[in-house]
Amino acid sequence: MSEPRQTTDSETNPLLKAWVTPFATPPFDEIKPDHFLPAFEQAFADHSAEIAAIANDPAAADFANTITALERSGKLLNRIAPVFYDLVSAHSNPAILEIDKEVSLRMARHWNPIMMNAVLFGRIAQLHENRANLALDPEQLRLLERTYTRFHRAGAGLAEEAKMRMAEINERLAQLGTGFSHHLLGDEQEWFMELGEADRQGLPESFVAAAKAAAEERGMAGKAIVTLSRSSVEPFLKSSARRDLREKVYKAFTARGDNGNSNDNNTTIVEILKLREESANLLGYPTFAAYRLEDSMAKTPEAVRSLLERVWKPARARALADRDDMQALITAEGGNFKLASWDWRFYAEKLRLQRANFDDAAIKPYLTLDNMIAAAFDCATRLFGITFVERKDVPVWHPDVRVWEVKGKDGRHKALFYGDYFARPSKRSGAWMGSLRDQQKLDGEIAPLVMNVCNFSKGAEGEPSLLSPDDARTLFHELGHGLHGMLSNVTYPSLSGTSVFTDFVELPSQL
Ligand SMILES: [Zn+2]
Repeated sequence: MSEPRQTTDSETNPLLKAWVTPFATPPFDEIKPDHFLPAFEQAFADHSAEIAAIANDPAAADFANTITALERSGKLLNRIAPVFYDLVSAHSNPAILEIDKEVSLRMARHWNPIMMNAVLFGRIAQLHENRANLALDPEQLRLLERTYTRFHRAGAGLAEEAKMRMAEINERLAQLGTGFSHHLLGDEQEWFMELGEADRQGLPESFVAAAKAAAEERGMAGKAIVTLSRSSVEPFLKSSARRDLREKVYKAFTARGDNGNSNDNNTTIVEILKLREESANLLGYPTFAAYRLEDSMAKTPEAVRSLLERVWKPARARALADRDDMQALITAEGGNFKLASWDWRFYAEKLRLQRANFDDAAIKPYLTLDNMIAAAFDCATRLFGITFVERKDVPVWHPDVRVWEVKGKDGRHKALFYGDYFARPSKRSGAWMGSLRDQQKLDGEIAPLVMNVCNFSKGAEGEPSLLSPDDARTLFHELGHGLHGMLSNVTYPSLSGTSVFTDFVELPSQL
């Protein structure tokens, strides 16, 4: 390009400038989709230069010039990538999704030569070999082991030809993974079911109010709709007395990505599985499961299977007994049909009412979102002595996002917590914890920016948003993950917060 685009300028691109917001948080109000590609290009270039300097350092490898230097590298990339992926998953638009396709491919092309850099890996492997003699503290030893394992498992030790194939596979998997989630979002965004007066049998008032709010969100004020958000589907299937509509919603929900349209994921899934298998084989593992599980607490597919088998038989017996009870209920009501998948939640709810006199819908009015947030925070205060104070001056990615400053027992600033609770078409489904900045203290104390993103149904204008008991459990669960990030206390960024084995990471969510 002969003329530099305005957005490539490090003085005008908010992703490249210093962040002068409260707590140096991302200036979401200034960031535009156009800013990302030039910022990523800059970040990739900076990072590659840092990696080359580490790999080609004429001094013999030591912990500081190799492992610590790696931890310090990629600052710009670490700053902007979480902001980008937050928008991709929690508040996307067609421009962001288009850029995501390019970024995921560029990301794979950036990381491949780093993770397979033979000279760099040589330095790491030499330190790893000699780790007992380096006088490392436990955190440093852990960091060295994790760094070595990460490079080794990425194929850094493979022969040239195998490395080239791994690089191709990684690029293709990056494209396929991005396509998969875009398709899912596409099917979720396109589908909704309008509820006329006659379609509302059995639905609690709170559900209808949320269905009206969902319609308004999509520019259909005055109407009421069911969407494919779990917080819309689940209560509908539990309470709708219209069997035909339950079938329609259930089928739409379970067929996301399986509709033979441009969002179909069938061939994507097959190709992902083939490539994963091939990459595992290249690395010397019989299956992808064996490769994936080796770096986890479970270690082997056999260990996972034996755990599942122990649960499977009793759980299946329980489910079959429930099925028979539900069928009996249908017959007693004069229903002349066999229990189908879309009936399960509806009759399970009736059974529960019969057995325990516990009615989800009746409890819901007590579970307002604000009360549940307060309860979850109170729980965290009592467990860990931290306190939450809402801030209105921190830029956010959507007006519904709320921010709290979290202070430690000693009253010192500990973290910011972002809560993004409501479903909307620009958000992917599910609930998750994430971070915009990880805790570390390699070069001074860095406080984390942690977020929870959920898909709860928003209450109608002026009405409180009500959670189901399931939603409330999700809120506590995600705050558990959030606390894992906020209470992190490590020196090195790559060991921060939830950077633990994936089969350990759920523990804090259960606490
Ligand atoms: Zn979880």
